[in-house]
Amino acid sequence: MLLETERNLVVEYGKKLLAAGLTTGTGGNLSILNREKGLMAISASGLHYLEATPEDVVIMDLDGQVVDSARKPSSEHGFHSVLYRKRDDVNAVVHTHSVYATTVACMNMELPAIHYLVGFAGKKVPLAPYATFGTSELARNVEETIGNYNAVLLSNHGLITVGRGIGNAFDAAEELELVARIYVQALSAGKPVIVPDDEMERVIEKFSTYGQAGGTEK
Ligand code: 13P
Ligand code: ZN
Repeated sequence: MLLETERNLVVEYGKKLLAAGLTTGTGGNLSILNREKGLMAISASGLHYLEATPEDVVIMDLDGQVVDSARKPSSEHGFHSVLYRKRDDVNAVVHTHSVYATTVACMNMELPAIHYLVGFAGKKVPLAPYATFGTSELARNVEETIGNYNAVLLSNHGLITVGRGIGNAFDAAEELELVARIYVQALSAGKPVIVPDDEMERVIEKFSTYGQAGGTEK
């Protein structure tokens, strides 16, 4: 089977998104790039994560052509391929409608450094302007907003995270949802205090050596 490893991971991490409460129903999507082959494995459109099998995962090139699958690809394949073309450090993309990140996006606000864990994205999570889901306009807005950040909020829609591998992109989606929740709660309790830029620079530097030396590539 073409891109068997990537297909298996797309199925596995789809279930993880559901188990972590980062998505409901058929919301969100995820993909993994095989850069050597120039192909991505992307979740099928509107298929429940618990029902998906490796055969349901769609293989596409970065020009939007389906290379292998009986299924229709995610309606958001446009922003997935745009991100792989724009960023050569990115090999996985996760998109969710997780509740607190989406709440911030629905206020058309960026997610600032209310907590140092925003470092999973950078010094903040920027906000892309609204466009209808599944359109090339939304893909263009994402492309123009993401810069070197590892996440972007979609106005009135949700969150995208990117990573070197699917483990990184998943972790970012999970941690940024926590930060968004803290931010929404802090906004309702009073005036949030934001971590200054120079401290976030230290945090991001420390992240590069955090955890176990020689840890496995995620
Ligand atoms: P798909 O089921 O087509 O991936 O769409 C879900 C979604 O989140 C659209 O933005
Ligand atoms: Zn969506």
